[in-house]
Amino acid sequence: MTTRQWQSIIVQLERILGSDGVVKRKEELLTYECDGLPQYRQRPALVTLPRTTQQVAEIVKICNKHKIPWVARGAGTGLSGGALPVEDCILIVTARMRQILAIDLENQRVVVQPGVINNWVTQAVSGAGFYYAPDPSSQIICSIGGNVAENSGGVHCLKYGVTTNHVLGLTIVTGEGEIVKTGGMVSEMPLFDLTGLFVGSEGTLGIATEIVLKILKRPESVGVILADFNSIEEAGSAVAGIIQAGIIPAGMEMMDNFSINAVEDVVATDCYPRDAQAILLVELDGLQVEVEAYKEKVAEICRRCGARSITSASDEATRMKLWKGRKAAFAAMGKISPNYFVQDGVVPRSKLPQVLAEINRLSEKYGFPIANVFHAGDGNLHPLILYDQSVEGAFAKVEELGGEILKLCVRMGGSISGEHGIGSDKKCYMTEMFTEVDLETQQYVRRCFNPYGLANPGKIFPTPPTCGETANAGRSQFKGAFAF
Ligand SMILES: Cc1cc2nc3c(=O)[nH]c(=O)nc-3n(C[C@H](O)[C@H](O)[C@H](O)COP(=O)(O)OP(=O)(O)OC[C@H]3O[C@@H](n4cnc5c(N)ncnc54)[C@H](O)[C@@H]3O)c2cc1C
Repeated sequence: MTTRQWQSIIVQLERILGSDGVVKRKEELLTYECDGLPQYRQRPALVTLPRTTQQVAEIVKICNKHKIPWVARGAGTGLSGGALPVEDCILIVTARMRQILAIDLENQRVVVQPGVINNWVTQAVSGAGFYYAPDPSSQIICSIGGNVAENSGGVHCLKYGVTTNHVLGLTIVTGEGEIVKTGGMVSEMPLFDLTGLFVGSEGTLGIATEIVLKILKRPESVGVILADFNSIEEAGSAVAGIIQAGIIPAGMEMMDNFSINAVEDVVATDCYPRDAQAILLVELDGLQVEVEAYKEKVAEICRRCGARSITSASDEATRMKLWKGRKAAFAAMGKISPNYFVQDGVVPRSKLPQVLAEINRLSEKYGFPIANVFHAGDGNLHPLILYDQSVEGAFAKVEELGGEILKLCVRMGGSISGEHGIGSDKKCYMTEMFTEVDLETQQYVRRCFNPYGLANPGKIFPTPPTCGETANAGRSQFKGAFAF
């Protein structure tokens, strides 16, 4: 497109959004050139900041008319490059769509615009004793629209399910610019489950502009157990033992020795023994009698599996203290290493010790330390590969190592994504899990919603299906036809 054509597009967009609704200066566009995976960067041609569904639909129609690719963006905390701009694209950022539109406590639902921050929902209803269950660790900054697109998980998803289990209905703007309502205000609706289809589609089917969420009543009581072990195997057998005993904790998280020391160096909880090879954090919630009984049972299982010490907490201040290190784990890595790359895979939880031993072997082979933090109950691993970006070629090796870990997860009967999505980062590993026919079947669906292929192109699907064409093929080479 020529500069003149872009200028005409800006005029059209400003007519819809006002001049402060279009970001066009080169230095301002820098903010949007990556998401939470900063290794991949591409500056967008323009950024738009709509406030309403209608405005989103009009932007999409302009994009279609001029064949301009567009990418939805919430808070930009995604860790798989889902909101990474593509060359010469328009970003549709939901940062001004931040209204909580309705709160219906009687029927336990809340209607929000997509830019609403995850934990604002809980804040809005906590006074009445309710909360919104899906709680990614990024919940103080990530948006509900991003959660919907990634089908985000979190610590409490072991018991309460991931985002898809808490979304009743959506208003979406499709790739054609049509406004469509899916689902509704109740969970049982006739016709195809388009809400379920849209959740987890990573911005490739359209953009969610209104979301109906289910909220839950706060449990009467919450307790946390911290157990430390001499080996990952012992901690892993405690996880299996707890589930086999029929206990479904609200959350069950594990950290290895490397992570324990990293968080103690940075946030000094003084709760995690530095010489432990693994710690297990188990949160139990429900009626008070139930929580008390389960706490005893969990402690007993942990002891039987070799726990060296057990700390139990019911009051909020001590619970927060026990969780503090786990919550700060990613940030702690940033403090002890110039760069880190977080992977996200899933294995059957019984395979955790075996997979961790193999990850340690890969860490030695490639020469990069790896800290492991994981949602143990779900078998969802987050290996954090530490490296120095300024060393030439380091990131290419880190990407290769990350790929080895994902392939290992698949070999063990797991998946290449637990909760962070596929985005740009992992699309080349999709063929490890899916056949060509599987992928083509998914593409049929994508084409129904996104017939021109302009909504978040180049994401999720391997095109071409090789790892030679990485997410970052055009890294930092802004060839945008237009930038002030
Ligand atoms: C420190 C840290 C901890 C994290 N912990 C977790 C965790 O525990 N669990 C977890 O699941 N994730 C976690 N994440 C990842 C991330 O926060 C989630 O994926 C989150 O849902 C992304 O929301 P966002 O608003 O930042 O989305 P963005 O990064 O802006 O976008 C993510 C994807 O959603 C699409 N999108 C955004 N808005 C819309 C919309 N309205 N309609 C359609 N598509 C849209 C984008 O195109 C993109 O593909 C963590 C991230 C960080 C940085």
